[in-house]
Amino acid sequence: MKPVIALVGRPNVGKSTLFNRMTKSRDAIVADFAGLTRDRHYGNGHIGRREFIVIDTGGFEPDAVDGNIFHEMAKQTRQAVAEADVVIFVVDARAGVSSQDHDIANYLRRLGKPCVLAANKAEGMREGVQLVEFFELGLGEVHGVSAAHGQGIRDLLELALETLNLPEEDEDEEGAEDGVVKLAVAGRPNVGKSTLINTWLGEERLVAFDMPGTTRDAISVPFERNGTKYELIDTAGLRRKGKVFEAIEKFSVVKTLQAIETANVVLLLIDAAEGVTDQDAHIAGYILESGRAVVIAINKWDAVDAYQRELVQRSIETRLAFLKFAAMLFISAKKRQGLGPVWDAIGQAHRAAMRKMPTPVLTRVLLEAIQFQSPPRAGMFRPKMRYAHQGGMNPPVIIIHGNSLEHVPAAYIRFLEGRFRKEFDLVGTPLRIQMKTSE
Ligand code: GDP
Ligand code: GDP
Repeated sequence: MKPVIALVGRPNVGKSTLFNRMTKSRDAIVADFAGLTRDRHYGNGHIGRREFIVIDTGGFEPDAVDGNIFHEMAKQTRQAVAEADVVIFVVDARAGVSSQDHDIANYLRRLGKPCVLAANKAEGMREGVQLVEFFELGLGEVHGVSAAHGQGIRDLLELALETLNLPEEDEDEEGAEDGVVKLAVAGRPNVGKSTLINTWLGEERLVAFDMPGTTRDAISVPFERNGTKYELIDTAGLRRKGKVFEAIEKFSVVKTLQAIETANVVLLLIDAAEGVTDQDAHIAGYILESGRAVVIAINKWDAVDAYQRELVQRSIETRLAFLKFAAMLFISAKKRQGLGPVWDAIGQAHRAAMRKMPTPVLTRVLLEAIQFQSPPRAGMFRPKMRYAHQGGMNPPVIIIHGNSLEHVPAAYIRFLEGRFRKEFDLVGTPLRIQMKTSE
């Protein structure tokens, strides 16, 4: 599971700027769960191969809450901190220590969560001299950074991650190879996640092993169905109660993100009666970004009339257009309808995500595509694509080698994507295409 870093601090110290640095969110599709956590932003970041989730608490508007600024901020801070493994407490090196800084520091110290103190806007400052006053916050060493100029960010992140004593990264993703399909059921509260899982676990064809007496709300159920082994990943927002699972009211973004990251395939449940909400679209965006295979199931199909069915289908086609590579199924978890095809689609998506694409075949498809339509000339440059090889699985990555490839337009890459998808039957998985130009 990716560790979670929370950025806290009073307004204007540069948290959002730091967040953007950490996530490079200007070019990534960062799931901005604004709809469900008004003022918190979630993003993915990495240093080297080490990945993390970062939460920014910077979005709140001091003016919007009359006389109640600190209360609101404390709430945001508390929630972000509760979800985090480590906190980066950001202060303003230029403004010096404020009483709000003291309040936040006191709170963090009482909590005892790992915490790193960062003095932002420290470009051009002499750390040893000018930052000493921040020691009075009682959080240990202060690290001068400049979010705006990108100074000291890497060191800061390394320090934050070091406090967690994480085990060394598993270099190989062998888990993907051992034939177990890691499956997460994702969706908003009340879409029917627990109903579906309980229906599954009640099926005769599904043999669940050692129903876990796992800690608190962590769930991982290994099971076998028609000869295939699966593992149901902690599906955020569920709790085991005796033999059945029940929903807990609180929706945890971090848990959802972590479940998606851990899974090979995500079953995204949508409520037919509600259509696609902002929250659904955010979760879907995150699945795409994570590269996981995905199956969309529209649940409660039994509860809607023909008119509503039409509306839901249309809302999915427009709002989830970016998942159009995914199978879409209509089910009723409660009435046990349409569940067989869901398993077929999960199997298909998993096979697609793990597809082996030999270099000769990839290269043949590439050259045939070029013959059909070559990439456009870009000014003086004529991109020349020579061969392609596979760079990864789940999601499948295709790396194309050649010259001047930075001039290949996005529309042409989409055209290639279509060709590759068709050849390798890549239904249900995102596909990444990367260009590698040799000098
Ligand atoms: P937040 O309210 O804590 O999220 O703060 P913002 O990220 O919105 O930044 C507040 C202001 O500080 C903006 O005007 C930023 O341009 C500025 N700022 C952020 N980082 C730096 C920095 O490293 N150096 C300087 N000089 N200004 C910065
Ligand atoms: P969760 O929060 O995603 O786990 O949702 P639940 O499984 O607790 O379901 C929320 C509500 O939707 C419950 O009242 C279920 O009985 C109902 N529900 C779940 N699946 C269906 C379905 O297929 N059809 C209908 N009509 N109701 C359903």
